[in-house]
Amino acid sequence: MIGTEKKVCQNCHSEFTIEPDDFAFYEKIKVPPPTFCPDCRLQRKLTFRNERTLYKNKCKKCGKDLISMYREDGPMTVYCRDCWYSDSWNPMKYGQEIDFSQNFSVQFKELFHSLPVVNLWAVQSVNSEYTNFSSQEKNSYLIFGGKINENLRYSNNTSLAKDSQDLFNCTKLELSYENVQCNNSQRLFFSKYCENCSDSYFLYDCRNCINCFGCTNLRNKQNCFFNQQLTKEEYKKRLQDVDSGSFKNLAGNFEKFNNAYNKAIHKYAQFINTNNCTGNNMRNARDCKMCFDIFGTNSEDSKYIEWVVDGVKDSYDSYGMPRAERIYEALATGFDMMENSDYAFTIFARGSKDVRYSINCSASHDLFGCVGLDKKEYCILNKQYTKEEYEDFLLKIIEHMNSMPYVDSKGRVYRYGEFFPTEISPFAYNETIAQEYFPLIKEQAEERGYKWKENDVKNYKIDLKTEDLPDHIDDIDESIAGKVIECAHKGECKEQCSSAFKIIKEEFQFYKKLKLPMPRLCPNCRHYNRLAQRTPFKLWHRQCMCNKDHPHHKGKCSNEFETSYAPDRPEIVYCEQCYNAEIA
Ligand SMILES: [Zn+2]
Ligand SMILES: [Zn+2]
Ligand SMILES: [Zn+2]
Ligand SMILES: [Zn+2]
Ligand SMILES: [Zn+2]
Repeated sequence: MIGTEKKVCQNCHSEFTIEPDDFAFYEKIKVPPPTFCPDCRLQRKLTFRNERTLYKNKCKKCGKDLISMYREDGPMTVYCRDCWYSDSWNPMKYGQEIDFSQNFSVQFKELFHSLPVVNLWAVQSVNSEYTNFSSQEKNSYLIFGGKINENLRYSNNTSLAKDSQDLFNCTKLELSYENVQCNNSQRLFFSKYCENCSDSYFLYDCRNCINCFGCTNLRNKQNCFFNQQLTKEEYKKRLQDVDSGSFKNLAGNFEKFNNAYNKAIHKYAQFINTNNCTGNNMRNARDCKMCFDIFGTNSEDSKYIEWVVDGVKDSYDSYGMPRAERIYEALATGFDMMENSDYAFTIFARGSKDVRYSINCSASHDLFGCVGLDKKEYCILNKQYTKEEYEDFLLKIIEHMNSMPYVDSKGRVYRYGEFFPTEISPFAYNETIAQEYFPLIKEQAEERGYKWKENDVKNYKIDLKTEDLPDHIDDIDESIAGKVIECAHKGECKEQCSSAFKIIKEEFQFYKKLKLPMPRLCPNCRHYNRLAQRTPFKLWHRQCMCNKDHPHHKGKCSNEFETSYAPDRPEIVYCEQCYNAEIA
């Protein structure tokens, strides 16, 4: 039995620990232990995931205009969906014999960059041309991550939402706007971490509440205003005074709500129906460690996993999975309508088994170093082998990857068992969501050997400045649709600001119908604001902050836990027992 081992990360040079359970997992799936720390492993994977930086481009086959995550002047040959999935080209034609006098990663990069790519990763979607890393979208616009949404706009990692806008990490919302991590609710606005709420504004950690405004930690309540119980008539009157269509009024209440949020009690982790887990934002899971944003049913025995739509089992180090098991170092791998298992070092692989070092392959088994294959078996670098040849070659390639490892421009060494080096990603660092979770400035990125995309020159002709927008939605008419509105951040404060934005007709009707003011920030700034409301994919060991007397303690509670609230944050963080004693 191997004990705990301390290692120094090749990338950031900090120390990280490999536990006996980890060794057992690596042994089971036959990979050597990692040489990058967990954070650097996640960062490296995310440098391959460009969700939100979209470009106008043209299909290289049929010439059709399209929206793509690849730049027109970038390294990739972009096809539209119809052309990519047609029989008019054959990915096997790009196959090449492995050359043992040359580095494997270099040969893989050549193959990867020579094949056409599909413009966006959007599966079975209708009238939703601006959606990426999502599936079964209908009439949706600017959706990144998630599935089965209808009439949803400007949202990330959200599923089963309808007629809603500006959501992040939400499930089953209807007619809702500006929420983070809310579930199963209707007409819910400006809220976070709520379940089963309706007709409410500015809620934090509320469940089964109706007609509430500015409330925190409530259960089964109606007609509450900043946690004060009112009669139905009083509440109605207060809501009329607030006048939700006014931007100024809402901004004032937003400030007030932020104060209430900081005084609320925060459970050390947002866990629902979990057993023996560490991480945050998890439901229906057991024995998942260092896992974040795990939704759906039955996740188990996994570690270092982020953003699972539905059930992950026996997996490590993966980001963005629908449903899968025995997965290691994978990005956007799995698909909920198919069986998925035994992937390692894959990007956008689905419905397959025993696939390693491959990108965009489906319904296949036993692939190594392949790109864009469907319904294939025993292929290496897109070349067909017999089962016996394949098995024989596999051992030789692994040996070759170890004896002639890829060394990148900064001296990082990639033997068998590492994810793809960032250098083969077709994206610049700041085009990908690595920039959202591990933000760098240009100099830092370049020092680490990452590509950087210069901001496009934005000289939009502004039709309307934010300060000239009427305060109340009632004073704005449909002619606003299509006008170029300056973002209130004016592109100055933040590099991600697009400096100006337009609203579409459906969007205007949405604000009007729900009596919401028009936003003053561009969709990018709004996205980054929501992102800032979440805690990072990181845990700190802390003690419960409860100082009240509860059945299990008098004076300060001595319970300790792993929490994603950093010690210097303002939130009041409680252990499960104290939280339940006060709230549940
Ligand atoms: Zn590191
Ligand atoms: Zn085409
Ligand atoms: Zn902006
Ligand atoms: Zn406690
Ligand atoms: Zn307590």
